[in-house]
Amino acid sequence: MTHFINGSIRDEGFRGTVRDPSNGDVVADISMGDAETVDSAVRAARAAYPGWSRATPAERSSALAELAKRLDARSEEIAALESRQAGKPIRLTREFDVPGTVDNAAFFAGAARNLEGKASGEYSGSHTSSVRRESIGVVGSIAPWNYPLQMAGWKIFPAIAAGNTIVLKPSELTPLTSLILAEAAQEAGIPDGVINVITGTGADVGAPLLRHPDVDMLSFTGSTRVGQTVLEAAATTAKRVHLELGGKAPFVVHDDADLTAAIHGAVAGSLINTGQDCTAATRAIVHRSVYDDFISGVAELYQRVVLGPTADPSTDQGPLISAAHRDKVAAMVDRARGYARVVTGGSIPGGTLANGFYYPPTLVSDADPRSEIVRDEVFGPVLVVMPFDSDDEAIDLANDSPYGLAASVWTRDVYRALRATEQIRAGCVWVNDHISIISEMPHGGMKQSGFGKDMSTYSFDDYTVIKHVMFDRTGTARRDWHRTVFADASRR
Ligand code: NAD
Repeated sequence: MTHFINGSIRDEGFRGTVRDPSNGDVVADISMGDAETVDSAVRAARAAYPGWSRATPAERSSALAELAKRLDARSEEIAALESRQAGKPIRLTREFDVPGTVDNAAFFAGAARNLEGKASGEYSGSHTSSVRRESIGVVGSIAPWNYPLQMAGWKIFPAIAAGNTIVLKPSELTPLTSLILAEAAQEAGIPDGVINVITGTGADVGAPLLRHPDVDMLSFTGSTRVGQTVLEAAATTAKRVHLELGGKAPFVVHDDADLTAAIHGAVAGSLINTGQDCTAATRAIVHRSVYDDFISGVAELYQRVVLGPTADPSTDQGPLISAAHRDKVAAMVDRARGYARVVTGGSIPGGTLANGFYYPPTLVSDADPRSEIVRDEVFGPVLVVMPFDSDDEAIDLANDSPYGLAASVWTRDVYRALRATEQIRAGCVWVNDHISIISEMPHGGMKQSGFGKDMSTYSFDDYTVIKHVMFDRTGTARRDWHRTVFADASRR
């Protein structure tokens, strides 16, 4: 498969390969773009911008609604491809990735007709002011490999609903469903050049996209390290920036929580997408009185999780994305053995799973809050558990992280829950749940998890710019304020 630029496939030969992380098989050969490819995609997006930005909200809305239908019609094909390229269990892509993306497209079809501004008014007395909410121009987007289709949708739908055009660079590990999304958009009647997708590496495609002078905004989802590079590149032409970065979500369990629900929530919340989820539960902070029961409950369920072929609907957990990433996760757990206790998991499976990049659900306890396994993003099926004694200590531990993307608190005490939702510094705080998202609600971080919102109409605050328009309403040549600049000659 190859780039999708200006409504057509741009064949540049195949220099890259997408592999199935569950067995190493080749899924597709892909083109690997460079600065020239970026330039032609940006030119296509720029050329499409005047027409698309002037399309009526109703026109943009019906094109997005049609796109939602077309994605839905191809859902089984897309779910299978997403499962193969990203190593996701088919149950996850069928029931979460694909329907979530279809719903997101449908949501932005509605939202496209709901771009709001402040009412016009006479604020100075002698002028009428109004506020226009306008699109920004060409958006350069870079996405990660963990939710390839959903991330492409989160980037593309709000940007184009607001009237922007876009050049998207998916991860070189997982570009295939983003290309299908672009193709479906064309079939849905979205004009050529509005959505362009370039495949290739961060160095060859990402870097020139970030620095392209004709890109007006950068929208990035990925690691905090690369996010810092995005900010630096944006400075060169003062581009607007939207950053969705890493996370290390706390999962706070109080002594009055429904412990069975918390244990099930921790297992699902830490293992979703093999733990390769920026909002995954990673730091369980558990009241000392239920600490041992929580650990034994989670360990028992972890041992029941079925690792297996991703196409098999009975598989619970797939592999990690690559051998390099699996080895990084394994090395972090191995280092943790020196200062913490690995309760369950922690060794790379052999047998039929040895061809893929599998790693088992791994529970670590008794780690120092300053240790690597507690502080750094592991991005794998690894949960660390720490005890606490007082509510204040739980909040301090939850906030003791450079990240601030998501958190959850488990309690039956409404006042405790209220205090936690107020005091935890994260872009989303769940009460008695973890992971659930919905198109109507914003997703985005605080602290080093970035800034800007995906999903919801709040995303329009990033993908639009506010313009003040001020009309004189006196019709006179000489205005009151002119006195401050030059004297009235007729009165001299
Ligand atoms: P990554 O930062 O390594 O790569 C993300 C994208 O950036 C890829 O497309 C990559 O090719 C590109 N890239 C890499 N170096 C680049 C450079 N120098 N210039 C331009 N582009 C470059 O992240 P990843 O490993 O693909 O994804 C995992 C990370 O993404 C985790 O940290 C995770 O927390 C984060 N993430 C965050 C969210 C969120 O909403 N906050 C969602 C999903 C993933």
